[in-house]
Amino acid sequence: MSTPKTTKKRTGGRPKGARTEPRPTVAVALSRCTACGSTRRTPYTQTRRTPYAGRTPDGQPYTAVVRRWTRCEDCGQARVDLSYEHTPEEKPSN
Ligand SMILES: [Zn+2]
Repeated sequence: MSTPKTTKKRTGGRPKGARTEPRPTVAVALSRCTACGSTRRTPYTQTRRTPYAGRTPDGQPYTAVVRRWTRCEDCGQARVDLSYEHTPEEKPSN
């Protein structure tokens, strides 16, 4: 497929002629239903973000703990998804 000739401004992507940098691939684990194992869920109904500095169980630093309320789309089991965010410039005072 050839690039169509256009006068529209480029809005994204690599600038023309930029080198292709190798980039790391990071595996992301989706939250799962504790009852049936499904990763399908309803949209989050509520989010609570608490600035708190610490280390995750596998040793990664974080600056906030985030809780999101959801429900399994397959079996209806309700749950709270817990995740850790790390924003290097954020300095929680705990
Ligand atoms: Zn389920």
